[in-house]
Amino acid sequence: MSLSAPTRVALAIHGGTPVRKTLLPYGRQSIEEDDIQAVVDALRSDWLTTGPKIPEFEEAFAAWLGARFAVSFSSGTAALHGAAFAAGIATGDEAITTPLTFAATANCVLYQNGTPVFADISADTLNLDPERVAAKVSPKTKALLPVDYAGHPADLDAMLEIADRHGLVVIEDACHALGSEYKGRRVGSIAHMTVFSFHPVKHLTTGEGGMVTTDNAAYADALRKVRNHGISSGARDRQHAGQWHYEMVLLGYNYRLTDIACALGLSQLKKLEENLTRRREIATRYTAAFREMPGICAPFVREEALPAWHLYHVRFDFARFSTGRAEIFHALRAENIGVNVHYIPVHLHPYYRERFGYRGGEFPTAESAYESVISLPMFHGMSDADVEDVIRAVDLVIGYYRK
Ligand SMILES: *Cc1c(COP(=O)(O)O)cnc(C)c1O
Repeated sequence: MSLSAPTRVALAIHGGTPVRKTLLPYGRQSIEEDDIQAVVDALRSDWLTTGPKIPEFEEAFAAWLGARFAVSFSSGTAALHGAAFAAGIATGDEAITTPLTFAATANCVLYQNGTPVFADISADTLNLDPERVAAKVSPKTKALLPVDYAGHPADLDAMLEIADRHGLVVIEDACHALGSEYKGRRVGSIAHMTVFSFHPVKHLTTGEGGMVTTDNAAYADALRKVRNHGISSGARDRQHAGQWHYEMVLLGYNYRLTDIACALGLSQLKKLEENLTRRREIATRYTAAFREMPGICAPFVREEALPAWHLYHVRFDFARFSTGRAEIFHALRAENIGVNVHYIPVHLHPYYRERFGYRGGEFPTAESAYESVISLPMFHGMSDADVEDVIRAVDLVIGYYRK
């Protein structure tokens, strides 16, 4: 035994002491006293739903982004469905999207009896590759559905240019990207419609909730109708007008967000800027640390982008390690680092394989990205000590397995 051999700390997966005593999740909400008070106040008010907190939240949200209209929904998924409806996606239509996303992005096309068509992604940002999108446009294409993966805005100018050429609607799934900037502008008024989620792991939470923003009055009108059974006026407007009469003009849903949720959203919105700054600080610290670690690669950021960092994903070069992703993932979990993987490509889920005949191999860039990524904890409530725990655990685990 050589005297100079480094004393190696045993990994937790091999019975060593974990880097942390308790699990650090990959994402979570921050709820403070003022948030709780806002909800309590809403509960004591006259309106639990269809009340004044809804336009108040929508207007504040639209103003924050610089969009003309914001229409709230009961979830990000409902908001995607609303946007697919407003875009006019119907039986036989196609919409082009990325395989590297949460299934809801593609499912909203199916809800409208359309067909999601996948195009492969760019290897740097893991966002839709405009050239591959252009190659998938057909006479049936109605919409493009880019996703801002991890909070890095998609190539929006290129998407809009393709849409312009073929008369398509661009629905941006910005569920990762509240506060992201593209060429100096916040996402939310760049695409024809932009969709956000308020799930607890996202930048701002209402428990469940979502929003569509747009500058187009006709889309905003369709969005308001479809979330409320296809009815053309709200309950509060009718009460104000002393009216009982209403008309159902299209087949809609109950996709309304409550006043309770909107009160929480308004309170959370006040802290959004500060929370984005914190996420960006964490990303900067991570990137500085991971740049020094051979075998892993920090997320790439294009010059025109200021990401909002919903996720922070590192990519592994597994040729340089003695084991694969599964073991490294489990080793990090054993250190109490709540790693995750985003995403299993949508076309590889059993439902999509069975319905559309996908077998794997169709979208090599997305599939190889999926095989090489691990998402590390990233949320605005992380302390500096939490961030250092993640860096230490990654260093320890990859140091052990590196060839
Ligand atoms: C979170 C998310 C959704 C869905 O949002 P919900 O509010 O959970 O319905 C859709 N697309 C992407 C990319 C998401 O991350």
